[in-house]
Amino acid sequence: MIRTRWFTFFLFLFFVFSAQAQEVHEYIDLQIHPCMHVPYSFFGEGLETFDESTPPDLSWKHQFTNVNYANYLRKNKGARILCVGALTQENIASAKRGRKVIMKQIKFVNDFVAANSEDFAVARTPQEARDLVHTTDKTIIIHSIEGGKRLVNSQEDANFWAEQGVAFITLVHLVDSKYGAAANQPVFALKILNFGSLFKKEKNRRLTEKGKNAILYLANAGIMTDITHMSDNTRKDALTLMEEKHIPPLVTHDMFKPIQNQPRGMDEEDVLKVYANDGFISLPISGESCQPYKSRADYQAKLDALENHCEGSIDSYKFTYEEVKKFLEKELPADQVANLSIGFQTDFNGWLNHHRPRYGEEGCYPINPDSIYEAIELQGLAHPGLLESHWRLLEKEGVDLEPIKRSSEKFLQMWEYVLEKKGSF
Ligand SMILES: [Zn+2]
Ligand SMILES: [Zn+2]
Repeated sequence: MIRTRWFTFFLFLFFVFSAQAQEVHEYIDLQIHPCMHVPYSFFGEGLETFDESTPPDLSWKHQFTNVNYANYLRKNKGARILCVGALTQENIASAKRGRKVIMKQIKFVNDFVAANSEDFAVARTPQEARDLVHTTDKTIIIHSIEGGKRLVNSQEDANFWAEQGVAFITLVHLVDSKYGAAANQPVFALKILNFGSLFKKEKNRRLTEKGKNAILYLANAGIMTDITHMSDNTRKDALTLMEEKHIPPLVTHDMFKPIQNQPRGMDEEDVLKVYANDGFISLPISGESCQPYKSRADYQAKLDALENHCEGSIDSYKFTYEEVKKFLEKELPADQVANLSIGFQTDFNGWLNHHRPRYGEEGCYPINPDSIYEAIELQGLAHPGLLESHWRLLEKEGVDLEPIKRSSEKFLQMWEYVLEKKGSF
């Protein structure tokens, strides 16, 4: 009897320790686009290796320039796991063509990894990601897709993407589709791109039946739906459906409406709904994306009270992250606060600039020759190789980065959950 009890106890300990040993605690970039040149051929090719003696001259203003050099992604201490987002062309004309463009990108990544297998690996399941974290020092790539247009028309389609190892699909991108409406950011070019939507009433821009079905097909295939880029009402519809069906919502790179008061900002209610349904949100890392926009009075007052705040630099990300974190710590139940996860997304090669420097001509303050700076403060976030400096600076300034590191474990648990429950949603 005693022996059995001891045996059970040891078995229990074994599971506790093996579960702990398996836990992942890494920087995970929830979306990066090294294959942008496939859908948009004028874009510089990603994953190229440069000669270390002649590094490319890159600036934080790199909107149309490739910065995803393999050199910067290899052994990157600021991003161990990369969710590589294959991109749909916004004007994609057929389902067949849509699948082809995505497959070309997935193949491009897989071929790159096969040719560089000493430093890179693709994880097609959460378990593969865990094993790679614990048994190698490789950079781990997870496939994802940004823009579901024409890609998820049936259960077979969703199953096909699951077979490729796709962990999540951002269902809506820059243009309204048959699934639902896109958030029109206050950027002229993006409004023109989604021109037709400007004549619709906002209240009629919803998640469609096809959109609802797509979310269910994906969940039933074991794929998460990323609700980023949805219009306010489409997002609310998606959250209602996901609550009803117990599908955890993923938000890889929307903002926080009280600070970024525009359609890409999520309101407080929606953010809380994401966590109430066992999902998590992740913020865009770019200081340019995180710039406050028509902030609510209380947040504007906080911004005005800051002694040093260089808008568009790492400061805009730091402010947004810390305020979102404070909001969640105040509103979520204690067990969720203890395990709080907030992700980040770089969107490198996603047609955007990143942080400008804090110091120097393009920054806000003059460089003091007697001070020692982090590279990120002088160069801004010019390329992925500077992510380590980005996190180090925040750490030095006392920012709690635990929720960011926890997001890798949270992400894998959510993926495991939909895989475990596939077919039952
Ligand atoms: Zn995006
Ligand atoms: Zn993107």
